[in-house]
Amino acid sequence: MTMKLLDGKIALITGASRGIGRGIALKFAEQGANIAFSYLSSVEKGMELEKELQAFGVRAKGYRADAADFKASEELVNMVIADFGTIDVLVNNAGITRDALLMRMSEQQWDEVINSNLKSVFNFTKAVQKPMLKQRKGSIINISSVVGIQGNAGQSNYAASKAGIIGFTKSIALELGSRNIRCNAIAPGFIETEMTAALDAKVVEGWRENVPLKRGGTSEDVANAVAFLASDMSAYITGQVLNVCGGMLT
Ligand code: NAP
Repeated sequence: MTMKLLDGKIALITGASRGIGRGIALKFAEQGANIAFSYLSSVEKGMELEKELQAFGVRAKGYRADAADFKASEELVNMVIADFGTIDVLVNNAGITRDALLMRMSEQQWDEVINSNLKSVFNFTKAVQKPMLKQRKGSIINISSVVGIQGNAGQSNYAASKAGIIGFTKSIALELGSRNIRCNAIAPGFIETEMTAALDAKVVEGWRENVPLKRGGTSEDVANAVAFLASDMSAYITGQVLNVCGGMLT
């Protein structure tokens, strides 16, 4: 019997019904992790994913909960601990965009993005602190973006939320390092998901040309990096931002 990278670990992944979160869940299952995951509105896709993950021979359960809601997030973590026993790995992946130039950006567009992308990271990290402190071990991985490092016209709310995640990540790494709890961020570049498949083919081709590796990234490209940071292979890595962007940002 061969050992897998995440054998027996219990992971909680937010926003896994679609896209990158789904890719992370599948990679984790392939690597032997038991998986709790959340979603907001894609109930059917969540139920499908639960079955797909279980087919790998691991425990898997999906929960519907709004990651932007502090109390709901705390309750979700408590349910996961009741169902699985503890949490070894937290992946804060849930996120949204509400793009607009500042001139046209509403207060609601600002608040929705900050609450879904940044406050959610606070909500879940705070809630998993207790079980991770108790077992003196844990890995927290926050999905930021190259946009949080570089900025992007028309995405000031999104860029601020993703830059905020990086400051939060580094602070938590400093606070919890002495308890063997690690906290790192991943900054994906242009990742081709269902979302980008709907875009104009010429526009997407132009984006691909601008990437040194000459292609858009896949959910699996991101998931591989997340699996590394979740595993004990990254035991001496904390407080870092890993760009998974095909060399877009150097
Ligand atoms: P996506 O395809 O739109 O999927 C987003 C996922 O998050 C869905 O499963 C969605 O659930 C869930 N979600 C959204 N808001 C939520 C909330 N409040 N509570 C719980 N779940 C919520 O997006 P993606 O492209 O996979 O992006 C995933 C992460 O990677 C995001 O943080 C994004 O900012 C980041 N990222 C993406 C790219 C890219 O090029 N795609 C690049 C850099 C960073 P429902 O289906 O139920 O709505």
